[in-house]
Amino acid sequence: MEKREELYSGKAKSVFKTEDPDLLILEFRDDTSAFDGKKKEQLERKGRVNNIFNAFIMEKLKAAGIPTHFEKRLNDRESLVKCMQMLPVECVVRNISAGSLCKRLGVEEGQTLNPPTYELFLKNDEQGDPMINESLAVTFGWATDEQLQSMKELTYQVNAVLQRLFAEAGLLLVDYKLEFGVFKGQITLGDEFSPDGCRLWDAETREKLDKDRFRQGLGGVVEAYEEVGRRLGIQFD
Ligand code: UDP
Repeated sequence: MEKREELYSGKAKSVFKTEDPDLLILEFRDDTSAFDGKKKEQLERKGRVNNIFNAFIMEKLKAAGIPTHFEKRLNDRESLVKCMQMLPVECVVRNISAGSLCKRLGVEEGQTLNPPTYELFLKNDEQGDPMINESLAVTFGWATDEQLQSMKELTYQVNAVLQRLFAEAGLLLVDYKLEFGVFKGQITLGDEFSPDGCRLWDAETREKLDKDRFRQGLGGVVEAYEEVGRRLGIQFD
């Protein structure tokens, strides 16, 4: 697949056109950012680890019948994906309280959330990705009612698949963020699933094995991602 001009470069990934208008190349970089880009660093191996991790998870989701943009991993840092019209909405499911939920509501970290919660955020760095709801999304044209319904169903389906997958590896899936797009009229999972966009804790010790290690300056960020991968049976070398 021929890599053509760069379409877009985000905080951790870049997107390139290919000779096929329906396909794009996603490049996973070592850049890592938090707090709406205020904290930035290069973490050696992270792009490669996330590319391999994401390919593994997307294959599992595809096998479970979830429509994803993922086509195949091309090499260490690049994957081929479907070219979609992305919706500017982030869908977050939480199984355990952490992060912005605790700050916003003043609830303690680590509480089991039953049933799991579902939140929507607008993808807008300048506004700090504000929390929104379905009414706002429809009124401002960020997504239709039908699209929001599909996104919610798929986000919960992902929870069922991944909570189990991580549990079998001795990990708690605390929360995660998904992004969707439209491909040939169908709501399709886009972006990535890696420890950059979810929270994973060791089931016994509750040690953090995700991007909170970077946010909180705990160190061993990529090592933790690799540890999660190893427990899932992912071969990184
Ligand atoms: N998340 C993300 N990108 C964002 C915001 C959140 O990937 O722009 C992920 C985050 O890693 C966590 C989940 O979504 O797994 C919920 O994040 P939260 O709302 O708690 O915000 P945070 O504390 O990460 O700012």
